[in-house]
Amino acid sequence: MAIERMAIVGAGTMGTGIAQVAAQAGLQVTVIDTDDAALEHSQGRLDKSLRGAVEREKLTADEAGEVRARIAWTTAWDAVAQADLVLEAVFEDLEAKRAVLSRAGELARPEAILASNTSTLPIAELGELSGRPERFLGMHFFNPPPAMKLVEVIAGARTDPEVTAAALALCERMGKEPQLAPDIPGFLVNRVFGAVLAAAVDIWLHGAEPADIDAAMELGLGHRMGPLATADLVGLDICVALMDSLHAQTGHERFAVAPELRALVEAGKLGRKTGEGFYVYER
Ligand code: NAD
Repeated sequence: MAIERMAIVGAGTMGTGIAQVAAQAGLQVTVIDTDDAALEHSQGRLDKSLRGAVEREKLTADEAGEVRARIAWTTAWDAVAQADLVLEAVFEDLEAKRAVLSRAGELARPEAILASNTSTLPIAELGELSGRPERFLGMHFFNPPPAMKLVEVIAGARTDPEVTAAALALCERMGKEPQLAPDIPGFLVNRVFGAVLAAAVDIWLHGAEPADIDAAMELGLGHRMGPLATADLVGLDICVALMDSLHAQTGHERFAVAPELRALVEAGKLGRKTGEGFYVYER
């Protein structure tokens, strides 16, 4: 099925980035949020991102103008009723998602696809909240969406295979490299990363230097960036929240957060964004 009109609910970091990617692929996009300030901020961020793309010669000025013209920002939900795809990208909170998905399920056309960008919530459960689980799936973009090639595509237990195929085709049209992921906590990347980070922290607590652990993973496994440098980039608060969620949902001890890692977060050492995490950064 052709996907030409997209409504994105949630004008934050991910909603804004995904809007850019979709508009660059030629889709008409409406970004919806409850918060006027968030909508304004989203427009500013998109403009900055497009200016950067023009400076780096990824887009011509004309193309950037066309991308901008294909995106609208609003607090109204009218576009949901016309959309071929409604993507939810609100806060990672089940109650917030419940409100958005049930409303989208009521308003969207019967053949429309509904999707969530959730990082940690079960897709099958969100599908039930939408009231049409067979038209629902996970499309997990990575930050920043314009730069990151990966999209994890997650079918719930009741997702129609036609819906999964349409989502995969759309990702490819957007220049992405989608990977099918099972509907398990953490999907592919976060599940592996949570366990790898816990193991790296364990080795650090045995006395190894972060730089040695990271260099070993880069040289020994060909990773582009070691796990502790990656954690500093992602934000140690985000990493701890991810591991806590994986631990709570699976019960696996391999995702347990070491008290020393939690202490870094409590001390405000969140990684690059605060100037210190496993490493100290020049500010
Ligand atoms: P964010 O906090 O930047 O933005 C969320 C936006 O949702 C806010 O603008 C907020 O006003 C809006 N919102 C909240 N409730 C709403 C409602 N009922 N109706 C309309 N808008 C509403 O969040 P984000 O970082 O963009 O994350 C969004 C989703 O993407 C989450 O599920 C998150 O787990 C997932 N995700 C985030 C990242 C990341 O690195 N930030 C990466 C992958 C996936």
